[in-house]
Amino acid sequence: STVLYNNNFVSREACTVDMEDRGYQFGDGVYEVIRIYSGKMFTSQEHITRLFESAEKIKLDLPFTKEELTKNLSTLVEKNKLHTGTIYLQVTRGASARQHQFPLEGNPVFTAYTKEVPRPENQMNEGVAAIIAEDVRWLRCDIKSLNLLGNLLAKQEAYSQGSFEAILHRDGTVTEGSSSNAFIIKNNQLITHPATNLILNGITRRELLRLCPGIGLDVKEEAFTLDDLLSADEVFIASTTAEITPIVQIDGKDVADRKPGEWTKKLQSVLKASIQEQCGE
Ligand code: PMP
Repeated sequence: STVLYNNNFVSREACTVDMEDRGYQFGDGVYEVIRIYSGKMFTSQEHITRLFESAEKIKLDLPFTKEELTKNLSTLVEKNKLHTGTIYLQVTRGASARQHQFPLEGNPVFTAYTKEVPRPENQMNEGVAAIIAEDVRWLRCDIKSLNLLGNLLAKQEAYSQGSFEAILHRDGTVTEGSSSNAFIIKNNQLITHPATNLILNGITRRELLRLCPGIGLDVKEEAFTLDDLLSADEVFIASTTAEITPIVQIDGKDVADRKPGEWTKKLQSVLKASIQEQCGE
């Protein structure tokens, strides 16, 4: 396959990273995952803008403009003849003799590649199980940084228990999923944690919130508790790859009647319509 390595399209084998790359040694970098439907990027400008915001927050100067990046990513999709899948892209602070402080000269390293990923029809239709886990991450979860150990440990705990996702909480307040945003429906109202430093403001989250007025669903961006989660009428998670995935079991207990809820299904259908509008088919 063809990958992007800095400004060049090269074979995947030709992309080799230095062992003193700061991304490799410290997780010193930022990333994005963009969905491709029908060969077109979905909400690419939102993802690219967020990449620039994440980079600014860690004082990393990106080696391209938004326009250059957009153009290169669509060329990458074309070269790989990708129909349905994702682009993964990351920028690290690059290679320099190992030391915590930033190198004097910036030499960021950019890589991007595509992958075929079908829409997760089965999990979207049937729902998945989740566990509850303590959110032990740092206090800048708004940055989409390469430092994901807190997320990985929570996800692994979920998988080791046969669950798909870990829903995280700080002192009983639900923040988000280990790799997704978390939502509940209670009394015909959608509730989700506000976009503070404690969560990643997901692009799928933003798209959903934008679509709610059109289906008459009231939105409350307010923190909710574990009790609210466990007594909700509907629970779902949202992300670029999982789209809207219903949560039908939490810590082994059924959510409502263990079936995806009506509002969740309505949101899935308007998100699908928005995808079709942007990407066709
Ligand atoms: N929160 C976290 C911690 C995530 O890792 C992700 C997905 N990368 C999200 C939320 C959802 O973000 P998006 O909708 O932009 O994929």
